[in-house]
Amino acid sequence: MNISENIEKIQEKMEAACRRSARDVSSVRLMAVTKTHTAEEIFPAYEFGLRCFGENRVMELKEKAPLLPSDVEWHLIGHLQHNKVKPAVRLAAWIHSVDSLDLLEKINREAEIAGTSPKLLLEVNISGEESKFGLRPDEVAAVLQASRGGCCKVVGLMTMAPLMASDDELHRVFAGLRNLRDSLQEATGMDLPELSMGMSGDFEVAIEEGATIVRVGSAIFGERHYA
Ligand SMILES: *Cc1c(COP(=O)(O)O)cnc(C)c1O
Repeated sequence: MNISENIEKIQEKMEAACRRSARDVSSVRLMAVTKTHTAEEIFPAYEFGLRCFGENRVMELKEKAPLLPSDVEWHLIGHLQHNKVKPAVRLAAWIHSVDSLDLLEKINREAEIAGTSPKLLLEVNISGEESKFGLRPDEVAAVLQASRGGCCKVVGLMTMAPLMASDDELHRVFAGLRNLRDSLQEATGMDLPELSMGMSGDFEVAIEEGATIVRVGSAIFGERHYA
């Protein structure tokens, strides 16, 4: 597994997708999704120059974060249970998986106590799959309005596409998140610059549809092995 080569290949594909959609390459960030991999395994991605790392479980983040340099910016991307909010607001610079008003309020309370202010993204279930976490599109506006005045700022939206989706379906889901963001900005006057969408199999389509953060795991580190 040559991690540097993998990242270079991904960056080339990201650049090509930016060219196809007339976007500036600097408008899209590559997040290395490090779940299931040890600190040792992921260190080459740090050496390569990546600083944006994503974990989907708080306990794993808690174990791994102290083992990497302190300038890593940790993003929590997995479903967040209420009883894990306290460590989450201390460890994560960004939380991509805010999927209820209760959770948003809990994050704001705990962040205030901790003296932190992680950036928040509202997770939206665009595809409507029952198995997925995330707000329904019609629930997002109310959560966004309720976020005003909290100590943590909502800076955008996040979604996951269905696993075996066709290209058409991927375009529909990612454009759906972008269009929702556009109409929410219009309706609320709030600024929502960030769209977290796209993984190893679909980040190119996501960039064509406006992704600002792509979350890539297996294309960098190889297949995951769950113990
Ligand atoms: C694991 C995970 C990813 C990365 O998936 P890959 O297909 O390995 O790139 C992205 N986003 C979330 C929310 C994940 O849990």
